[in-house]
Amino acid sequence: MLKGKTALVTGSTSGIGLGIAQSLASQGANVMLNGFGDTTEAQRSVAALGVKVGYHGADMSKPAEIEAMVKACESQFGAVDILVNNAGIQHVAAVEDFPPERWDAIIAINLSSAFHTTRLALPGMKRRNWGRILNVASTHGLVASAQKSAYVASKHGIVGFTKSIALETATTGVTVNAICPGWVLTPLVQKQVDARAAEAGVGQEEAKRQLLAEKQPSLQFTTPEQLGGLAVFLCSPAADNVRGVAWNVDGGWVAQ
Ligand code: NAD
Repeated sequence: MLKGKTALVTGSTSGIGLGIAQSLASQGANVMLNGFGDTTEAQRSVAALGVKVGYHGADMSKPAEIEAMVKACESQFGAVDILVNNAGIQHVAAVEDFPPERWDAIIAINLSSAFHTTRLALPGMKRRNWGRILNVASTHGLVASAQKSAYVASKHGIVGFTKSIALETATTGVTVNAICPGWVLTPLVQKQVDARAAEAGVGQEEAKRQLLAEKQPSLQFTTPEQLGGLAVFLCSPAADNVRGVAWNVDGGWVAQ
């Protein structure tokens, strides 16, 4: 379905970004990966799906590096047809203890990076009159939790940004939507499981159960594969008129 298209997925060396990259590749899209850490396995797993794979190590908190990455994708693959703004970080602390540099980093990586990638990739999408922008927000783009002020602000911000750009592109072949996962067991959430296990003096399984029980009525983690499936749907012709939604995949979290 996506043969001949190119997807740029930020923060795709692990977790949700990698899951979405693999799902888009399984539909034939070439993929430009991005993110930190050892990228060999991520690149191998996407290439194994029979598509072309590139990698750019841009730091999503640095606008000049973001610009270099979008240009590299366009020159290497000819286009950015699908832009997945996924890179994100978390920091958990009460607002009066929140380190200002963590606030700035969360806003830069979780929110401002999407402004930069979007403003740079959109002109080409409009010229070709086809494009998909998928912003990985969170249930925290729809509702709040204590101790996560920067994350909640950044995710509410990206949901608002999604709606604005969906309106700006409403009469074009470019659609803009947000995906709002509940708990997904990735390295980002594993840190919170570890913190809970240490604090409550319980094992990993009990810490996971408590984490889910607090917010996610299904008591099941959402998986990167499920989010990849939604990304594929949002890239399909059936979703040509799905614009500006913030779609939760959260086991009932925000239904409460
Ligand atoms: P993760 O830690 O597994 O992956 C984050 C990715 O972003 C990695 O590839 C990492 O290298 C990359 N990254 C981090 N800082 C970066 C930077 N400055 N520049 C470039 N890349 C950077 O986390 P995840 O859980 O897969 O999170 C992915 C997205 O999903 C985030 O936006 C997160 O807020 C969102 N999300 C996660 C959950 C969850 O439960 N895991 C729930 C809702 C939303």
